[in-house]
Amino acid sequence: MNKIVAWKSLPEDVLAYLQQHAQVVQVDPSQHDALVAALRDADGGIGASVQITPAMLEGASRLKALSTISVGYDQFDVADLTRRGIVLAHTPDVLTESTADTVFSLILASARRVVELADWVKAGQWRTSIGPAQFGLDVQGKTIGIVGLGRIGGAVARRAAHGFNMKVLYTNRSANHQAEQAYGARRVELAELLAQSDFVCLQVPLTRETRHLIGAAELRAMKKSAILINASRGATVDEPALIEALRNGTIHGAGLDVFDTEPLPADSPLLAMPNVVALPHIGSATHETRHAMALNAAENLVAALDGTLTTNIVNRDVLAK
Ligand code: NAP
Repeated sequence: MNKIVAWKSLPEDVLAYLQQHAQVVQVDPSQHDALVAALRDADGGIGASVQITPAMLEGASRLKALSTISVGYDQFDVADLTRRGIVLAHTPDVLTESTADTVFSLILASARRVVELADWVKAGQWRTSIGPAQFGLDVQGKTIGIVGLGRIGGAVARRAAHGFNMKVLYTNRSANHQAEQAYGARRVELAELLAQSDFVCLQVPLTRETRHLIGAAELRAMKKSAILINASRGATVDEPALIEALRNGTIHGAGLDVFDTEPLPADSPLLAMPNVVALPHIGSATHETRHAMALNAAENLVAALDGTLTTNIVNRDVLAK
């Protein structure tokens, strides 16, 4: 029977499903050495939120497949896995809509100051009718610029165009014709997107090319009234440059689900800024979606170990080996 190591706790029914197909060893990911030892003795692995480095896989000669409970796979060295003949599977699609909902929550919360003003009410500050000091910015009818219009970016574009009558600009290395037809999205250079958008939303994967895609120069190129939304990965933005831009009014505000260091350290200047909405990386975090992701990842792993997985494969070229 195959042996599987799980470095994230799984819903009971998903664990039971895996146990029908393999012996499952659960490991606390904070116990680094125990995880490395378990990987060395496993045929497959499933988990999320842990960097799996090449060094951790030295001696893991039985390992045939890893399955991440996420769509992003920046925690793996994909080229190294391919060299080792290890299939990497991920969970696209099942989390697209709930992550797009999170992006829109950030857009609305930052523009309309929902979190800041809700705290203000709870603190007993609402003593007379509100005035300009509590006003926010409109969302409907504005321009949204989506950096990385793929699955999630497309679901954000649909909400923006059909729900909020917004103009949609985007950057991608290749055109997204479906989004252009369905949402009137227009593909532009990053410089034009930054100059014209009221909301700049990052939804690119974290790669060598997209690390610090938004730095001091890009923030300066945005409108002073613009809001940056990041629900991709923290490192797509140069965080110190963002803090500086928020401090000195280069941009109006930010809605952030992801950070350089997670959990966000308690002394981060971002936490003291009223023009920042900070969430604890909840992009896909609903009961329904997290369950669907865990099941999808478990099914991917079982099929990969059977040699029957045909979709959700990150390193398809490994199959040719
Ligand atoms: P996707 O369908 O692959 O979309 C990514 C988009 O980014 C594609 O349109 C791609 O278009 C574009 N892109 C890739 N590299 C680029 C580059 N160098 N420059 C400009 N555009 C580039 O992925 P998805 O399912 O929408 O997920 C996107 C990312 O969201 C994930 O990788 C993950 O990091 C993040 N995410 C975060 C959460 C959260 O909890 N906050 C949840 C889910 C996902 P081209 O290939 O044409 O360039």
